[in-house]
Amino acid sequence: MIVGTRKPLEEIKAMISPYKKVLIVGCGTCVAVCLAGGEKEVEVLKNELSLAMGDKVSFDGVTLERQCDKEFLEQLSDVVDQYDAFLSMACGAGVQFLSEVYPEKPVFPAVNTTFMGINRAVGWYEERCRGCGNCVLGITGGICPVTMCAKSLFNGPCGGTNKGKCEIDEEQPCAWYMIYERLEKQGRLDQIMDVIPANNWENQRPRTVIQPGYENLYNTSSK
Ligand code: SF4
Ligand code: SF4
Repeated sequence: MIVGTRKPLEEIKAMISPYKKVLIVGCGTCVAVCLAGGEKEVEVLKNELSLAMGDKVSFDGVTLERQCDKEFLEQLSDVVDQYDAFLSMACGAGVQFLSEVYPEKPVFPAVNTTFMGINRAVGWYEERCRGCGNCVLGITGGICPVTMCAKSLFNGPCGGTNKGKCEIDEEQPCAWYMIYERLEKQGRLDQIMDVIPANNWENQRPRTVIQPGYENLYNTSSK
């Protein structure tokens, strides 16, 4: 899931202070699971802002099922004219799509989007993927070298590996040591010698994915 954290109240206040009536828009998916921008967080932010800003700005709150889907964003079409601005509690993708669907309306982010990760325990999330566009988990024992290695090395370890720890921090495990151990446990340690070709870093530009079954519909192919 996409993980984020709510921005500090002072930063949010500064963004919306020129407006009189603001709709706080939550998202019911990833940011709700990571307790940053779901229904409960919309309510909490609304109360905090109302207390902090008094009569200067009035707030309403709504939580859409997803903000990365036009179908749900269109649910705001009847109320958009009632507000001077939107304060989105979605991830960066949701904020941008809300702004694209209602381009005449200022949209401000209330959440810092942090990473794609896992839910380790309640309130504890760990990064696991940076969307590199060329997943090599199949040959790295299911451990992502892009995310877990400080240098994002596709062929490691580097010379700084030290008794299972990374050279940047003795508390941080070396990703390539973990990959070695995982492959050994699975009886396929010989794969550690496979050289992974240099990555094309397809995540350096905005990407579009069209699943093969839909290519005819859009008269295109995936990029
Ligand atoms: S190799 Fe790339 S796609 Fe696969 S988990 Fe790592 S960052 Fe994500
Ligand atoms: S010590 Fe290991 S995790 Fe750290 S940069 Fe080198 S290969 Fe990557």
